[in-house]
Amino acid sequence: MTTETTETSTPAPETRRFEAEVAQVLHLVTHSLYSHKEIFLRELVSNASDACDKLRFEAIGKPELLAGEGELRIEISHDRDARTLSIRDTGIGMDRDEVIANIGSIASSGTRRFLEALGEERKADARLIGQFGVGFYSAFVVADRVTVLTRRAGTPAEAGVKWESDGRGEYTLEPATLDSHGTTIVLQLKDGEDEFLEDWNLRSLVSKYSDHIAFPIRMPKEAKDGEAPEWETVNGASALWTRPKNEISDDDYRGFYKSLGHDFDDPAAWTHNRVEGSQSFTTLLYLPSQPPFDVLMGGRDERKGLKLYIKRVFVMDAAEELLPNYLRFVRGVVDADDLPLNVSREILQQNRQLERIKGACVKRVLDLIEKLSRDEPEKFAAFLKAFGNTLKEGIVEDPSNRERIAKLLRFASTRGGDAAQTVSLDDYIGRMAAGQDAIWYVTADSHAAAAGSPQLEAFRSKGIEVLLMSDRIDEWMVGHLHEYAGKPLRHVAKGELPLDEAEKKQQEEAAAAAAPLLERLKKLLDGKVGDVRVSARLTDSPACLALAEHEMAPHLARLLREAGQAVPESLPTLEINPAHALLQRISATEDGTQASDLATLLLEQAQLTAGAPLADPAAFVQRVNRLLAS
Ligand code: ADP
Ligand code: MG
Repeated sequence: MTTETTETSTPAPETRRFEAEVAQVLHLVTHSLYSHKEIFLRELVSNASDACDKLRFEAIGKPELLAGEGELRIEISHDRDARTLSIRDTGIGMDRDEVIANIGSIASSGTRRFLEALGEERKADARLIGQFGVGFYSAFVVADRVTVLTRRAGTPAEAGVKWESDGRGEYTLEPATLDSHGTTIVLQLKDGEDEFLEDWNLRSLVSKYSDHIAFPIRMPKEAKDGEAPEWETVNGASALWTRPKNEISDDDYRGFYKSLGHDFDDPAAWTHNRVEGSQSFTTLLYLPSQPPFDVLMGGRDERKGLKLYIKRVFVMDAAEELLPNYLRFVRGVVDADDLPLNVSREILQQNRQLERIKGACVKRVLDLIEKLSRDEPEKFAAFLKAFGNTLKEGIVEDPSNRERIAKLLRFASTRGGDAAQTVSLDDYIGRMAAGQDAIWYVTADSHAAAAGSPQLEAFRSKGIEVLLMSDRIDEWMVGHLHEYAGKPLRHVAKGELPLDEAEKKQQEEAAAAAAPLLERLKKLLDGKVGDVRVSARLTDSPACLALAEHEMAPHLARLLREAGQAVPESLPTLEINPAHALLQRISATEDGTQASDLATLLLEQAQLTAGAPLADPAAFVQRVNRLLAS
């Protein structure tokens, strides 16, 4: 793309090409998005509302910006004969460079993510479009020509810009003289889109999608021929969160949630609170029921969805300032009465009042999730499925709420018999065996690997429940959760098992009896193991790995190495079950090569079940084959 340096004093329109990715999005939008076409109206109204928000905010310091068009509003009108639909706002408007930057090129990484989300099939429903910051282009779903007339507030009438495109790769730009600041978008509707020329239909779409826009949306009353129309407001146009709770219906709350953007589904739950006192503020916070694409796709760089208002004036998207990262799925509004309106992001980050508001938000959200877990188990299960792993980050990130967060988590367990994560730590403690003093867990790569860990055998035979953790984050999370409700959490492969007197005696006798075998194995596995000892953990399997108290689980060490991180090397401790036939065979084998093969295989199978990589897979296969053939 060439960059224009000369002034646009030429009256002829200048033709420019869209950036490649924009052109791709446009192509998709016009060729693949068929369902929920009406979404374009919500997107354009939402942009108009953003523009009004921006002007209201800028005008705090510079009231003269509002000159000419005092009232911030949105107007929707149509012309049946010309087959055009217009959406006008008296917001901030754009200058020429802004038009090029905002709608001619990729304003955000959203465009690329949108393309990725659509994937190979390139088919999607238009509802997706608003989530990616490509809402403007949805105009081309219903229009074959879009004209934008815009002038930035504070610039003279001649500083207007006219942008026009048929959405096929190019657009034109020319100067325009515009009476008022703000933006008008004119859609030349495609054949067959006549429903968007119906007054009743437009009104019902506004009330469906845009009722909670905080600026008045006006439409002309049916005007008599030749008379200028009278405008009437067709949306609720109130800041919902400022109304008393008892006047707000569940539908109002749901509608408002959708007007926040980024999600088309109903929220799972919400909490609306007003705090009065030395510092007054209102919070309206929602839990989504589905993970939005930006969370799924690692969009941690731009967290949207929590808006900060100060005395009803939108100030900024402030999810990062208002909530810790592990609650990044929360959407909603915070309206503070006592912050200075000219607050900057930098100031916000160090603001003590904001710290307090943030603390209140965290408490409200945790209360809300707790309530969901008590009152609506099905919704809660769906919520955990979507956001449980995000919530687990809080165990590490927010030590002051560690216990509260831990209470909300659910795990699979040896009692469950399947992979469903339904057991809470409280459930576990409630049914602990007499004399049991720890919460036992195992971590692995997959549920099957966790459930198949040989270290579980002794626990099974003693009837002790073990939590089975197989999400990637679990190892890291549980490394920071040393205890819950006064009970230590312990990994089944780590440290010593608690044994009663009789068991201890048995264990010592077994170790003494196996002393020659242990010595032999240490020699056979010299350089490959740190220690070999008799296990108290095994009943059926021949061997397993044991971990020191602070040693990293082998599957995690493997993941970290694969991710290029340095992980301290240490030789594994092998625990054996001398009663097992394989160990007895090693004892009985006189042939040195065969004994070495057997001993090495013993170690390798312990490594495999622990999710550790084999040092030399080819040698492993040769060993197995030698033994199979012998
Ligand atoms: P998003 O709204 O998520 O940023 P859009 O594709 O809807 O993405 O809009 C792209 C950008 O175009 C906006 O961020 C804004 O800068 C600009 N824009 C769109 N519509 C308007 C408008 N009515 N007034 C001012 N700027 C607008
Ligand atoms: Mg938008």
